[in-house]
Amino acid sequence: MIGNIDKLNLVRLGAVMTYSTLQEIGAHIQASFDGIIADVQLGHHDAPIADSIDAFLLTNVLDIEIGGHTLGITDADLKSQDPEDFYNTIIGGKNPNNDVAVVSTRHLSPERIESDGDYHLLVDRTIKVSLHEIGHNLGLTDHATYRTAPDGALCPMSKGEFNKFGYQGYVRAVVDGRGVNFCDECGHFLRAMHRRQPSETSDSGLH
Ligand SMILES: [Zn+2]
Ligand SMILES: [Zn+2]
Repeated sequence: MIGNIDKLNLVRLGAVMTYSTLQEIGAHIQASFDGIIADVQLGHHDAPIADSIDAFLLTNVLDIEIGGHTLGITDADLKSQDPEDFYNTIIGGKNPNNDVAVVSTRHLSPERIESDGDYHLLVDRTIKVSLHEIGHNLGLTDHATYRTAPDGALCPMSKGEFNKFGYQGYVRAVVDGRGVNFCDECGHFLRAMHRRQPSETSDSGLH
């Protein structure tokens, strides 16, 4: 399924964040997927102004209009038809039929953005959910348990349980608990599956 994954299209849908914030998110993504994602191309897509949008539909639109390995960030409420989802609205989702994932800031935002700290918290959460969804794009699966990375923070693929906390509680307990480094198991998978090979090794010799 995954085509050329070392380039990621990071696409802002509508006016959700400033361009420099998008740049900051892109830099964090590249750092967390060091050696795997070499290039983050920032883009903008004028999505129709909608309060909510079906996640599956949105990922299909992005696949047609942008294509390739893509992550869209929107402030619209993302709706999910998946009966597995605890709520019918999600903070992020990946389309299994292509290499496109989306993140919604709707439930990640503090109630009001009144200070730099509030905005920073929103950006921080958006980065962590972005890492989770890109992880899915690269073949990682959810950790039902709370698995920690070597730095002690939760692995970005930690999913935990929604119903235990409620939506806001979930974001605080699980998303805020995540770090930007993957656990040993995820790190091993990423390196084994996706580590870029130096181009000079592309000779035809048998090894
Ligand atoms: Zn997941
Ligand atoms: Zn992990």
